[in-house]
This record gives sequence, structure tokens and C-alpha cells, in this order.
Amino acid sequence: MVIQIDGNELLCPPNGWAWDDPYHYGDLMMRLGLQTWHIRTSQFNEQNARRVPLRQVLQNADPEVAEVLFKAVPLAHWQTTSRFCGRCGDATAPSPNQYVAVCPTCGLEIWPRLTPAIIVLIHRGDQILLARHRRSISGFFSCVAGFVEAGETLEQTVVREIREEVGLSVEPPVYRSSQSWPFPSNLMLAFRAECLQGEPVPDQNEILEAQWFTKETLPALPPRFSVARQLIEDFFGQSEAR
Ligand SMILES: [Zn+2]
Repeated sequence: MVIQIDGNELLCPPNGWAWDDPYHYGDLMMRLGLQTWHIRTSQFNEQNARRVPLRQVLQNADPEVAEVLFKAVPLAHWQTTSRFCGRCGDATAPSPNQYVAVCPTCGLEIWPRLTPAIIVLIHRGDQILLARHRRSISGFFSCVAGFVEAGETLEQTVVREIREEVGLSVEPPVYRSSQSWPFPSNLMLAFRAECLQGEPVPDQNEILEAQWFTKETLPALPPRFSVARQLIEDFFGQSEAR
């Protein structure tokens, strides 16, 4: 099994594996168990292969398959960005035993990197605040999110991102869960934060619109595989969040 990845697209061989094919699915998991899998990036040899956006694949994938991709995509990204040493510029070589690229000249080790980011569900009574992001292609509303900056605690990032993106002050945030987010190699740390007063003021840069919603008035929500969706459904008790 070879998973081919090019940016945010997967290459699906025309007659090869399919996410609903139990034979190929089993084959993939077995090889993963034996650590014999590898990821090939940017070299597409199959004829007539289909390019499928990763988000689309994840929306239709079983949780087990999604878990594979959550690991494979960050590793593919690391493979393509660790070919040369950042200290001396020499070509690196992969270690035979671990996921690490090693510089033969100066010894620098380049391990797969995750970029930490926070995502936060802001709530007030029975309402939650959802925002429409500029980068949201399909226009769904989601939680406020942002990257952790150098020197920050996660809680400081949550407070800063909320203030910057929607202009609100919140009570101390509460950690909920985490998720690998393979676009391309983030680790999402999910929080809840209560807002006692104030109305949102979208920054009009990253956030175009932000509104309070109840369970009955929820708009189109993020995909089910996302931690944003899990935060929302968890708040409303696993319910009829659409
Ligand atoms: Zn080097």
C-alpha cells in the first residue's frame, strides 16, 4: 500500500484501494501494524489516477482510516520539508529505524514537527459563538482558532485569539480534548471558554461574521471528523447538531 499525497490532495489509483473496500482496507492496516508502510509524495506514476481533496476523503472515511491519514499526512509533509539540513544546507538521510532525517555533515536531527494550535468554543448560557472564517470555502460557521505563539501558554493563546478575532473577553478557558489536524501537520488543543458579557466584533481579516447560536438555530457546521464539530456536539449533549 502506498499513500500518495500532494499538498491537500490524495492520489487514488483508478483500480486500487478504496475506502469502502474491505480487502484493501485490511491490507493497509496490516502493513501499518508491521511498520512496512511508506508514503510517497509528489511522484505520481499511476495513469488515470484520481486526485481527491483530503477533506473529502476524511468526510467519507471510517474512523480507523481517518486515523491512518492523520498520521500519514504530517509524515509526508515532514518528508518533503526535511530533505536538506537547515543548519548547514547538506542533504539529509532518513534514519533506518525511526522517523528522523539526519544530516551526515553536522549531525542535525530533523524530527517530524507538529504545530500547536488552539480551538475554542465560546459559550454564554445556552448559546455558543460561531464564526465564519475567511478561509472557509463552503461558508460554514466554526469555532475560533489560532496558532500558539512563542512564549505563550495554551490558555494565553485562547484569550488572545478570542480578543483579536471577535473582540470578546472570557473567563479562564477549560481544556477539553485534542486532535491531530493534518492540514498539514497541526495539533489542535480544544478548549471551552465562557463569555459573561459583550457582543462579538469580527476582525474582518480572518473572521467575517460571528453570531450567537442556540441548539435550535445552528447554522451549517464543520465536518464530523473535526474537533470543532465535536466541541459543538459535546456542548449540546451529542444531540441533534446538524
Ligand atoms: Zn547539517
